[in-house]
Amino acid sequence: MMEAAIANPSVSIQNLSLNFGVMSVLKTLNLDVAEGEFIVLLGPSGCGKSTLLNCIAGLLDISEGRIFIKGKNVTWEEPKDRGIGMVFQSYALYPQMTVEKNLSFGLRVAGVPKDEIAKRIARAAEILQIEPLLQRKPSALSGGQRQRVAIGRALVRDVDVFLFDEPLSNLDAKLRSELRVEIKLLHRRLQNTMIYVTHDQIEAMTLADRIAVMKGGVIQQLDAPQTIYNRPVNRFVAGFLGSPA
Ligand code: ADP
Ligand code: MG
Repeated sequence: MMEAAIANPSVSIQNLSLNFGVMSVLKTLNLDVAEGEFIVLLGPSGCGKSTLLNCIAGLLDISEGRIFIKGKNVTWEEPKDRGIGMVFQSYALYPQMTVEKNLSFGLRVAGVPKDEIAKRIARAAEILQIEPLLQRKPSALSGGQRQRVAIGRALVRDVDVFLFDEPLSNLDAKLRSELRVEIKLLHRRLQNTMIYVTHDQIEAMTLADRIAVMKGGVIQQLDAPQTIYNRPVNRFVAGFLGSPA
């Protein structure tokens, strides 16, 4: 299917391939994400979603292709220089540090001034409603609270692009739907670019401006949720979305 070109994409992935040894995991992939867009990468386990996200983050070296963020070729830039914030499935908080220290640690390392750090933490804590938790350790938090803190760590970095890798998949159904709503509100408020990986069709349908349905390291279809649902391009997409095509 032909896609209209996006002028000044926030993230542009061009002919990206990634091989692990002889195994080709991402196959000449192309994806342009508009400024402020919420893109969901949806597909079954093993289709290459996390690998693609890790390539964008700079955590994996790609085999071929180029990655641009805000017009800059970041293909060989360090993760910290890419202007992205990443939230993983497992919370990856520092267990010995309070929530506040977890939020400030990266900023202190990066040399952000103290008063600026305080300002950013106050803002993130307000947005994520974690003000009462700032002096607690992660062990004293619920799963949902920990994941809020993990999102907060990306938030305080003041980045343009957020990458989420199945951030809700360790949570129970009720928390999952609550946090889904919060992530949606967060995006409305920040209006930043989000690339969100999930294998959950409901998450994809409710969060995405556009969904990229992946299978075997290839994007099968990239379209608005309704279009994907109503006009799947092939049986795989139809079956995965559960629509009656
Ligand atoms: P998803 O996130 O969609 O579940 P992944 O991106 O984690 O899928 O994995 C895609 C494929 O790459 C899988 O077949 C997986 O086994 C393989 N893979 C992932 N990471 C590595 C690695 N470090 N070394 C070798 N193979 C890997
Ligand atoms: Mg994964």
